[in-house]
Order: sequence, then C-alpha cells, then structure tokens
Amino acid sequence: MENKKELRNWLDAFGLDHPLVIAGPCSAETEEQVLKIAHQLKDTDATVLRAGIWKPRTRPGNFEGVGALGLKWLQKAKEETGMLIATEVANANHVRLALEHDVDVLWIGARSTVSPFIVQEIADALNGTDKIVLVKNPVNPDLPLWLGAIERLYTANIKNLGVIHRGFSTYEKTRYRNNPEWQIPIELQNRFPDLPLILDPSHIAGRRDIIFDICQTGLDLNYDGLMVETHFDPDNAWSDAKQQITPATLVEYMEDLKIRKETD
Ligand code: PEP
Ligand code: MN
Repeated sequence: MENKKELRNWLDAFGLDHPLVIAGPCSAETEEQVLKIAHQLKDTDATVLRAGIWKPRTRPGNFEGVGALGLKWLQKAKEETGMLIATEVANANHVRLALEHDVDVLWIGARSTVSPFIVQEIADALNGTDKIVLVKNPVNPDLPLWLGAIERLYTANIKNLGVIHRGFSTYEKTRYRNNPEWQIPIELQNRFPDLPLILDPSHIAGRRDIIFDICQTGLDLNYDGLMVETHFDPDNAWSDAKQQITPATLVEYMEDLKIRKETD
C-alpha cells in the first residue's frame, strides 16, 4: 500500500484530504433535508456530500428515490457549503443527468456492479470523464465481477477511479447486514495497488452500534477513505434508517478514530 502516487494525485487534484470522508443520507428526501445535512457536515472532516436519488430497492413498494429533482438540491448544497457532491448512477441516463448537473463523484452501486451490461453502459456514458468514479463491490462475494467492472471503466479512459467496499450478501445470519470478507478487497488492492479503497461501514453493518469498529478496522487496514450514511434524524430516514448516524456522531467518531490512529 506504499505506492499511492495516483491516489494522492487525484485526492490532491480535487483538494481532498486523506483519508477521504464522504458522508450524507442514504437517500435525498427533500430539499430541506439535503441542505440541513450538508450544513451540519460542512465544517467536519467530510469533504464530499453523498445522497442517493435513484434508489435500487431490492423489493418493490419501498421509496425508490426522488429522481432527477434531487440533483438540483445537491447542486444547491454544493453552492452553499463548498462540498463536492456524490450520487449513485445505474444507467446511461443517470450518468447524463449527473454530468449535466456537475455531480463530482459518481458511484456504481452493488446491484449494478453485478451486471456487465450495465457497467459497460455506464462506462460508455462516462467515457473520458474527469469526474471521480467509484465502484462498489458486487452484492455477492465475486472478485472477478468487481475486477471486470474496474477494467471496463479503465478501458473507457476514466482516470479518477476508486472502489468502495460495502460488504457481501450471504444467506446466513451474521452480525453484519453484509459480510465484510476483508480478504476480497485486500486481494483487489494487490491487483490494483494505486486504486483508492474506500470503506462503506454503513452497508456492511446495517446497524449503528458496530459502525465505529468497522471504520477502525478499515483504517487499521490502511483504507483511503470512508463513506458513512449520515442523517439528522436517522430513525425517520426514508431508507436504511437502522444504519445511519447523525453528523454529530460522525464528528465524535472521527475524533476518536484519529486519536487511535495517531497513537498507532
Ligand atoms: C447506498 O449507498 O445507499 C446503496 C444503495 O448502496 P449499495 O449499492 O452498497 O447497496
Ligand atoms: Mn443506503
């Protein structure tokens, strides 16, 4: 993990800290909600605001996101706070709309990484972009699918590329919503040592009480960043209510994680 030249280049180029902290709600719900969370995160370690606007729900009948309307709210949050903005894209139309609204970080969700057709469509729509593109691991513990997605994006001349580890689904009941299987992202790092590796403790945990420990494990493993779902009223969030933490809790966690890191 010493040779992180390319990583430093894109973090530096975007004026981002190391470790990179991406925070914000699972879903954009209303303009007020997005702006309130953005302002609560503004003077924290979080430099990128995340919010899903197209939500890939496993079962129908749940909130599926506010759609393109949310892009305007994210843009407004960027203007008001100076944070970069991030959202999930799952097809070429999402990419087109996100680029039109100057979204800085586009991520490919776990349910899209499993589909080579979708990844290829997104890669083609993003061809040559200077934006930051992050690829979540596929839902299932399948390293070649994750590697294949990265290869498709590299082939489309996307240079500011990184990956997000959000854990892997399993039919067994475990303490995690998605098993971390730490060896899989480590193996991916061996294949692509310059690729920034970001941890998503929220989707690994599925619950608030183990988020801190998962973050610490990631930082101990020298991860390059964290993406943490953050909401001012987690219990009433429209999606992933059990796993979101408040911006104030994130601040506390970052202080404690830093102290532990500095004393290493
Ligand atoms: C999300 O980030 O809210 C999300 C849907 O994540 P994943 O693709 O990891 O399930
Ligand atoms: Mn979520």
